[in-house]
Amino acid sequence: MDCDLVIIGSGFGGSVVALRAAQAGMRVVVLERGARMDDAAFARLADGRDRLIVPAVGRAAPRADALRGGFLEVRTIPGLTGIVGRGVGGGSHHYTSVTVAARDDVFASGWPADWTAESMHPRYARVAERLRLAPIAAPSPQTRAIETLGGRLGAPTRRLPLALDPAAAPPTLPPGSGWRRDLIGWFRGDGAGARISLDDAYLRPAETLGAQLRPHCTVTRLGRATDGYRVEFIQRIAGRLVSAVLHAPRVVLAAGTLATVRLLLEARDVHRSLPRLSPALGCGFTTNGDFGAILLGPRVPFPDERSPVATAWIDFWEKDRLLLMDLGRLPIARRWLRRWLPAALRLRDWSRRFSLYAYTPAAPVAWIIGGMGAAAARGRLRLDRRGGMAHERQSRDNAFDRCMANRLRDVAQAAGATLLRLPLWLARLHPMTVHPLGGCGLADSPERGVCDPNGRAFGCPGLHVADGSVLPTPCGCPPSMTIAATAERIAEMLTQ
Ligand SMILES: Cc1cc2nc3c(=O)[nH]c(=O)nc-3n(C[C@H](O)[C@H](O)[C@H](O)COP(=O)(O)OP(=O)(O)OC[C@H]3O[C@@H](n4cnc5c(N)ncnc54)[C@H](O)[C@@H]3O)c2cc1C
Repeated sequence: MDCDLVIIGSGFGGSVVALRAAQAGMRVVVLERGARMDDAAFARLADGRDRLIVPAVGRAAPRADALRGGFLEVRTIPGLTGIVGRGVGGGSHHYTSVTVAARDDVFASGWPADWTAESMHPRYARVAERLRLAPIAAPSPQTRAIETLGGRLGAPTRRLPLALDPAAAPPTLPPGSGWRRDLIGWFRGDGAGARISLDDAYLRPAETLGAQLRPHCTVTRLGRATDGYRVEFIQRIAGRLVSAVLHAPRVVLAAGTLATVRLLLEARDVHRSLPRLSPALGCGFTTNGDFGAILLGPRVPFPDERSPVATAWIDFWEKDRLLLMDLGRLPIARRWLRRWLPAALRLRDWSRRFSLYAYTPAAPVAWIIGGMGAAAARGRLRLDRRGGMAHERQSRDNAFDRCMANRLRDVAQAAGATLLRLPLWLARLHPMTVHPLGGCGLADSPERGVCDPNGRAFGCPGLHVADGSVLPTPCGCPPSMTIAATAERIAEMLTQ
């Protein structure tokens, strides 16, 4: 055996398990398809030597995937577009830093019997401690704008815990094309401090304890071997691809929901290397109710100042189990939009009020609002006849979508803004999500889910899953902290 444990993926699930296993004295190898996201990697993204956003359409071709750089992937499959991260530290480099526990009632149904809210509290506390979470010290203009809207709607608002160190300066980016720098700065929360990434909080401490972290290693195939598992991967070395294999008694899959479910579906149905995986694989997938909208020309005081991307949300949980989160102004082409959008809107005679407002230099042209909720519809990920992954919506209940649309309309009215959102039929036909969850749900039996309450895949002793795919229900809020807390619990069982 090459080591005690191979971990596939270094995001919120993988890095937590890497540190806890290394602390328990295990010989750990982490395989990550992306690069180390150091200053040099960000410089390459900023000046265009590396691609910022990698489109991935249709069937995943592992060799092509292994050659890609980038730090964000827009993966489009029939019935779904998911935006996911790639790089050492997974989603922690591009996420908006909101690291928040799910509401207690999320764990009341759909989770294994002993996964209660009380059992999650100490795990959430461990994550909060490592990521040094704190709500923004002084409310930004954006925060106050959201609080004004909440007040107008009679709904509570919340200032959000962020994994940002306000005292630290973010790394400087070399001069490059303006939009790339703007976008990277937006993702990293530049101007509001420095991101506390998983590299800082978990991966470097794990490496100090002897864990081996191997970037540019894309896992392509998983199968049984004598006394354990065989993990096949392609490693990129100086632009060339080299095939390699690792053997270990235990494997933790933490490649993020879409990649984990795909690797397991292929292992069960194409290579037949793990034929005993549960028939529930791919079921219970959810977009976490993600729904984005743009408020054009909101009439709330909103000076043009640097602020973290997301700082607060309006809380509609009590009645509708959903939240509407402020995601800042359109990051890329703010200046550009100011120039053409008012003219375009005047041409169509949409709104004189808006065009006047948008000409005011300090006015934000477009304010992004992200909605999510726990009552979101469920879907199923499956392989089609050509071996590509596809998504189909399972539930026919549209009540959540209508509710989300109504709440967005209320917020736009309260803001005196024009609402831009996708029509509901399109959002149902082809949802877009930055929070793909489920498909390998934790459950008390293989009929109900793919992993047992300790994250062990039913029918495959020694194979564990610890990423967003194990969440058996939507958490209805940004999920990174719930994924990390779940991984804390899975790691406790794994290392005992
Ligand atoms: C723009 C954006 C903003 C977001 N903002 C927030 C936020 O503010 N708060 C929040 O809670 N969530 C946010 N999210 C969601 C959050 O990033 C994800 O929920 C989280 O990263 C998922 O964690 P994970 O461990 O499941 O997977 P990831 O963090 O995605 O990690 C999976 C890792 O596995 C690697 N991998 C994949 N396939 C392979 C393979 N075959 N071999 C080797 N490695 C592989 C990937 O490169 C990746 O690094 C945001 C997402 C996006 C896109």
